[in-house]
Amino acid sequence: MILKNKNPTARLMRQLQLSPAWKIALLLGFIAQLLLILFVTAIGLNQLAATSKNLGTVVDVHMRKQNLTKVMVVSARERTVNLFRMVESVDPFDRDDLFLQFNHNAEEFIIARADLIKMPLNSRERELLDMQRRFTGVSVPIQNRVVDLLNENVHEAETLLVKEAIPAQNKVLEVLSQLDKETQNTAFLASRKAAEAHDVARFWMYALSSVALLIGLIVAAVVVYFANRSSREREHLATHDSLTELPNRMLFQDRLEQALARALRHGELVGVLFIDLDRFKLVNDTLGHAGGDKLICEVAIRLLSAVRAEDVVARLGGDEFVVVITEARKVSQILQAVEKIIALVGQPYEIEGRELFSTCSIGVSVYPNDGVSSDVLIKNADTAMYHAKAGGRNRFQLYDQAMNAMAEERLQLETDLHYALERNEFVFHYQPQLNLKTGKVQALEALLRWEHPQKGLLAPAAFLELLEETGGIIEVGRKLLIDACTQLRVWHDAGFPDLSVAVNISGKEFWHEGLFANVQNALRVSGLPPSCLQMELTEGIFMQDTERATNRIMALKNLGVGVAIDDFGTGYSSLAHLKRFPLDCLKIDRYFVKDLEDAHINEAFISSILALCEGLNLCSVAEGVENSHQLERLRTLGCRVVQGYLVSRPIPAAQVEGLLARDWHQGFGDT
Ligand code: C2E
Ligand code: MG
Ligand code: MG
Repeated sequence: MILKNKNPTARLMRQLQLSPAWKIALLLGFIAQLLLILFVTAIGLNQLAATSKNLGTVVDVHMRKQNLTKVMVVSARERTVNLFRMVESVDPFDRDDLFLQFNHNAEEFIIARADLIKMPLNSRERELLDMQRRFTGVSVPIQNRVVDLLNENVHEAETLLVKEAIPAQNKVLEVLSQLDKETQNTAFLASRKAAEAHDVARFWMYALSSVALLIGLIVAAVVVYFANRSSREREHLATHDSLTELPNRMLFQDRLEQALARALRHGELVGVLFIDLDRFKLVNDTLGHAGGDKLICEVAIRLLSAVRAEDVVARLGGDEFVVVITEARKVSQILQAVEKIIALVGQPYEIEGRELFSTCSIGVSVYPNDGVSSDVLIKNADTAMYHAKAGGRNRFQLYDQAMNAMAEERLQLETDLHYALERNEFVFHYQPQLNLKTGKVQALEALLRWEHPQKGLLAPAAFLELLEETGGIIEVGRKLLIDACTQLRVWHDAGFPDLSVAVNISGKEFWHEGLFANVQNALRVSGLPPSCLQMELTEGIFMQDTERATNRIMALKNLGVGVAIDDFGTGYSSLAHLKRFPLDCLKIDRYFVKDLEDAHINEAFISSILALCEGLNLCSVAEGVENSHQLERLRTLGCRVVQGYLVSRPIPAAQVEGLLARDWHQGFGDT
C-alpha cells in the first residue's frame, strides 16, 4: 500500500515505525538472546577451561611419573655399571670414586621411588613396584657382597658379579622397563581421555551456542513477523476508512496522483467525482447512526460495483465519497460512469427492515481540463458538487470555472457569520397564523433573518446550514428566543394578550444541553406565560433517539411550553411515534398545500392529517397557503389555522401590530 508521501525515505521510515509495545518486545527479545548467548559462552568457556586444566594436570602427573621411572631405570643401570667398573678397576682411588657414585645411584633410586609411590598409581604400576622391591631386595645384598669381596678377592667378586649380581639386577631392570612402559601407556590413555573430554565440552559448547543462536533467530523472526503485521495493520488503519474499508482521503490522494502520472504518460483523461448523499442527515436522524452507517456501507458497495477495478473509490468521511475514473479517452466515458453511479445509488435500500430511498449529488472535474494537480481537481469537483446540490440534488454537475467565484462567496459568508452575531445582524421576522374561525391572528411564527451589511436581508436558506455546521446556531437561537419572548410580551401589553409565538429549533439546538435553561431564561426575562411559547421541531429530531427525544419533549412540556411538529408529512415519522410524543400541534408541510388544486392525493392526505389531529386532540396549521383557492379547499377540508403568503409574508416586528388589529373575516373570513 503506498501512502501519500512523495519522499520515499520518509515513507520507508513511516513503514518501519513500530508501536512502543513492539519496540519493547523487540528490545526484550534481543536482550534475552544476548543474555542467552553470553550465558552459553560463559558455560562453554568455563567447561573448556576445566577440561584444559584437567588435561594439564593429567599431563603433569604422567610426565612426572615417567621422569621418576626414568630416573629409577637410569640410576639402577648406572649402579650396575659402576659396580662393574669397580670390579674392573685396579686403582683404589678410582674404585673409591666409583663406590661413591655407586652409593649415589642408590640414593637417587630411593628418592625417585619414594616420590613415585606418592603419585596416583594404577594397580599394575603398584604391582610392578612391588615386584621391583622384591627383586631389588634380592639384588642389593648380592651387590653389597660383591663390594665386600673386592677388598679380599677380586676374582671371586667378579664371578659373583657376573653370575649373580648382574642377573639379579637385570631382573630389577626388566621390571623397571615394564614400569616405564606402563607409565607411558597410562599417560597416553589419560591424555586421550582428557582430549576426549575436551572434545565433548567443545561439542556441547557448539551445540548450546547453536541452540542459543537458533532461539535468537526464532525470537527475532517472531518479533519481526508480528512487528510487520502490526505495522501493516496500522498502515491499513491509517489509510482506510474503518466503516467501509474503502481507502481514506490520504490513500485516495496517493492513488489519484498515480492515476494523474499515468494519464500524463498516456495522454488520457481522469475524472474526479465528488459524491455526497442527498439529505443524509435526515436518514441519520430518522434511523439513528447505526442505520446511517448501514446506508453508507451499502452505498460504498454500489459505488464499487459501478466502476471498474482500476478506478478508485474512497470515502472522505460522513456521507462524502470520491471516485476516480481512470484511463478515459473522452469526457463522455467519464459521464457514463457518473450516470451509472447516480442510477445505482438511487435504487431502493433495505435498512433495518425498512425500505429507504437515497440519492446523491455528484460534482465532476476532469484532468487536464479542470486542473492538473490532485488538490485542484478535488477542490473543483467539490465545488461542482455544491452546484449539483443547489441545482436540485440527485444529479451531477461538471465543473465550470465560474463556480470558483461562488465557492469564494460561500467562504466569505462563513467569515461574515463570525461577525454577524457580535453586530446583532440576526433578527426575527414574524409570519402570522390565522385562525379562520375567529378571523384573528392567533400566533406568529418567528423566522430568522440576517440583515447582511452588503447583501441585504437574507433568508435561512442562504446561511442556516452554515450556521448549524459552525455551531453558531446555538448562540443565535439563545439570543433570539429572548427577543421573541420579549417582543410577544410587548404585543400582549399592546392589547393582544391571547397571541402566542412559535420558534423553530434545529436538531443541534434540541439536543444541546443548554436548551431548557435557555427557554426558562427567556420566559423569566420576558415575563411571558409559558403557554404562549411554542417550539417547532422537525420530524427528524424525533426519530434520532426516540427514548431520549420523548424525555426531552416531556421536559419542555414540563416548562409549560407547547411543542409542534414542523413540515409534517415530509419526514419518516410513523403514527406510533405520534402517539408516544406529547405534542400540541402538527404543521402540514406546504408541499401538500401547494398542489391542492390538481392533486387529489394531497387532499386525501390533508384530510387524514386533520382527522388524525382531531383524534389525538392536536391543533393543526396548514403552511404555505398562497392563494384563495388553496384557502377554500383547506377550509372545506376542515382546516382551522393557516399560514402563508396569502395572509402575510414574514415581516419585521414593527409591522406586525397592523396585522393583529385587522379583522380577517373581511376577505377570507368564515361566513
Ligand atoms: P419553516 O419553519 O417551515 O418555515 C416556513 C417557511 O416557509 C419560511 O421560510 C417561510 O418564509 C416560508 N413560507 C411561509 N409561507 C409561505 C408561502 O406561502 N409560500 C412559500 N413558498 N413559502 C412560505 P424561511 O423563513 O425561509 O425559513 C425556512 C426554514 O428555516 C424554516 O422552515 C425553518 O425550518 C428554518 N428556520 C427559520 N427560522 C429559524 C430559526 O430561528 N431557527 C431555526 N433553527 N430554524 C429556522
Ligand atoms: Mg417552522
Ligand atoms: Mg414548515
